[in-house]
Amino acid sequence: MDDHPFLIAGGGIGGLAAALGLARHGRPVRLFEQAQTFEEVGAGLQMSPNGVRALKALGAWDAVEPSCVIPSEIHVRDGLSGALLQRIRLGKTFEERFGAPYRVCHRADLLAGLVTAARRNFAIELNTARRATGAEEAADHVRLAFADGASARGAGVIAADGIRSALRAGVAGDVKATPRGVILYRGLMALQRVPPEIEADCVTLWLCPGAHVVHYPVSNWRNFNVVVAIEGSLPDEGWKTPAHSGEVPRRLPGVCEELSLLLAAPASWMRWPGADLPALPQWSKGRVALLGDAAHATLPFLAQGAVMALEDAVVLSREVAQTADLPAALRSYEGLRRPRTARVQDQSRGMSRIYHAQGVVALARNLALRLAGPSHALGRLEWIYRWTPESAG
Ligand SMILES: Cc1cc2nc3c(=O)[nH]c(=O)nc-3n(C[C@H](O)[C@H](O)[C@H](O)COP(=O)(O)OP(=O)(O)OC[C@H]3O[C@@H](n4cnc5c(N)ncnc54)[C@H](O)[C@@H]3O)c2cc1C
Repeated sequence: MDDHPFLIAGGGIGGLAAALGLARHGRPVRLFEQAQTFEEVGAGLQMSPNGVRALKALGAWDAVEPSCVIPSEIHVRDGLSGALLQRIRLGKTFEERFGAPYRVCHRADLLAGLVTAARRNFAIELNTARRATGAEEAADHVRLAFADGASARGAGVIAADGIRSALRAGVAGDVKATPRGVILYRGLMALQRVPPEIEADCVTLWLCPGAHVVHYPVSNWRNFNVVVAIEGSLPDEGWKTPAHSGEVPRRLPGVCEELSLLLAAPASWMRWPGADLPALPQWSKGRVALLGDAAHATLPFLAQGAVMALEDAVVLSREVAQTADLPAALRSYEGLRRPRTARVQDQSRGMSRIYHAQGVVALARNLALRLAGPSHALGRLEWIYRWTPESAG
């Protein structure tokens, strides 16, 4: 077995998960994050049963679970009339059906749990303020170069450096994220600020013409996360751009009273253009592989981006443990993960047609949701939620 450490570029959810997975299979890991500290912008995150299973396989669930919230139900509502179209209970029956629970959390809490688990593992070295710029391969090792002119030598490199990955070009050529005609807004507020008209213990999805809204409690019931997606375009100015005051309520006129009260509640909003990645020609090249958003960034409409990165980490580390030939192991990881992540990307794109329908199409959708019931809705998600660490991909 190759004793050089694995080098990971990027200390987000995917990079930390990969570090945990590889270390659990006995591989030493050096992780390099460009930021000064491990921090997560962004707000809430839905942790579906497949994500919980991946976290358990990575040995991180114990560190993450305490900050998660157990929502009581998922509600789907019509944003204009306020009518409840579908209700999915998330209790015992749900857990029995999928063999793991459904939780919601703040992304910073998930990241903190992963960092805690990584710090407990002596095989993992965590470095901050190190920006990777490229990877260069030799016959039996690979060298990761940094912006400060230094470099590190390792058995392999995992590029977990996000949707704007600097290392992707070396593996897959110049593929850029594609804006998908939607503006995303996120607002975070203390739970006490949530208007009483809103059922704050649920995950709620509001369907509006040309838009949708998702909200749920996070951070062990301290805060409340609201994400709004509205059709439109914006220049890409990163994830930390504040929205103009009143912009969100103004862009969603005509919504029902409960929803309009909620949209007026957050003191501030951030906004950014929704984008995903087109299919890459390849995710791995020799001893270098892409993971998480760097490989398959997806629109958040199925709430699966981070969960896919966690699953990637489980499969990658399993393949590396099973094969002495590292490039072959990375190719195998890619082959196993591509179909599933491509399907998630594709279905996430398609969700906006359903969520944002207008007029008679929206009426037909609402009727179908009412008639179909929760079991049918969950049936459509089985292929996602039933994933296990032993699954093929
Ligand atoms: C509004 C919204 C809601 C979402 N909701 C959900 C949800 O409910 N469930 C879910 O599963 N997913 C959700 N997602 C998706 C999820 O947040 C992402 O898919 C996930 O964070 C990807 O993790 P990553 O580690 O691959 O990339 P990132 O989180 O982007 O992390 C990349 C890391 O690499 C670092 N980095 C970048 N370049 C370099 C470099 N050159 N050198 C060193 N470090 C570098 C960055 O600083 C960062 O820390 C949502 C996304 C959005 C936008």
